[in-house]
Amino acid sequence: MIYDLIVIGAGPAGCATAISAARDGARVLLLEAGRFPRQKVCGEFVSAESLGLLESLLVGNERALLFNAPRIGKTRVFADCPEVAAEITPSAASIARFDLDRALWRSAIQSGVKAQENCAVQSLEGPNATPPNRPDTFRVVTRNESFEGKALVNATGRWSFLTSAATRARAPKDRWVGIKAHFYEGDTPSSVDLYFFSGGYCGVQPVSAPKNGSGWLINACAMVQANVATDLAEVLESHPALRERSANWIPVMQPVSTSPLIFHEPEPVRDGMLQVGDAATFVDPFIGDGISLALRSGNLAAHCLEPVLSNRSSLQRAAAEYEREYRRRLAPVFRASSHFRNFFNLPGVVRRPVMSLLRYTPAITRQLVRMTR
Ligand SMILES: Cc1cc2nc3c(=O)[nH]c(=O)nc-3n(C[C@H](O)[C@H](O)[C@H](O)COP(=O)(O)OP(=O)(O)OC[C@H]3O[C@@H](n4cnc5c(N)ncnc54)[C@H](O)[C@@H]3O)c2cc1C
Repeated sequence: MIYDLIVIGAGPAGCATAISAARDGARVLLLEAGRFPRQKVCGEFVSAESLGLLESLLVGNERALLFNAPRIGKTRVFADCPEVAAEITPSAASIARFDLDRALWRSAIQSGVKAQENCAVQSLEGPNATPPNRPDTFRVVTRNESFEGKALVNATGRWSFLTSAATRARAPKDRWVGIKAHFYEGDTPSSVDLYFFSGGYCGVQPVSAPKNGSGWLINACAMVQANVATDLAEVLESHPALRERSANWIPVMQPVSTSPLIFHEPEPVRDGMLQVGDAATFVDPFIGDGISLALRSGNLAAHCLEPVLSNRSSLQRAAAEYEREYRRRLAPVFRASSHFRNFFNLPGVVRRPVMSLLRYTPAITRQLVRMTR
């Protein structure tokens, strides 16, 4: 059987692509290396601009996730005391990846996608490879099987066997680690609180309301240089306000971590393959847009591929259309995030006066937050 579309990786980007293409009538195969549900290093902040899309992708009861999610209407930045606060309008949602990724996976299956877990793709061949490949299809190879598809989407995330050689070459120099864990906290503000310290930052936000007198379930997620901290306990000691706040937290899970975290220019198309989510580029997590960009790029890729899958256009044309639209609609967010990253890496003497100014000019702060949307 030749699938219309093969999607490799079933995070938010892969599921969004697969669901959207299946709803357009395509025969879609979705291959995932892991199993759901699973923990994932992530701040779990889902920005407002993709909540409508997320709701439309989720099927039936899976939507309950959205209605039960705490809303995050404010951000507080603890960089150089005192804190700077800004409204987030419209509010974002806070959804644990354990639940979100499983809900999207189930929705893909219910939308008619043929989905296989525990099925890591090990290699692939492009449309012009020599026989036994057909000249106009992709072949993907897993440990036990191989599959053919007319189009291929790479949704394998930030780091996989499909990561480009240029990005791989930078891995040994990469010093960033992502670490996350959930805790119970007595009373939690409905804000995403970002604690910046030399060599990293940690975000804290509620992920679920108290149940049976448990306290709020909160997520603490850090991006930190390996020479500054390698575990969450060290991170929680790295900022005075965070140290004080976390003193009474009760751990709920073992921390999970991930590396490398390499920022690079967007690469929406490679070797005829459309790349979505973190596979196209990795955006600095503190702007909280990675999930949103994953959903939006997945949906966009499926939309651009629709004429190919219904034999009305060529793959080449669809790829060019995707690349153009990706750069027009999504790339501005990446540019804004790299400006912010550079700002927070400036020495304290430069950063402090700007932070003080922002404290007294909420209109400018709001505008800056909007730039990342
Ligand atoms: C520290 C940190 C904090 C973050 N905080 C936030 C936040 O608060 N809000 C936000 O929006 N974003 C945040 N992000 C970013 C967000 O997690 C990502 O942008 C998002 O997960 C991208 O989704 P994706 O589907 O592209 O990739 P992923 O979610 O990584 O999914 C990729 C999938 O591909 C599978 N895969 C990999 N290789 C193969 C293979 N060979 N074969 C088959 N399957 C394969 C993997 O198992 C995985 O399930 C954060 C990231 C980090 C590191």
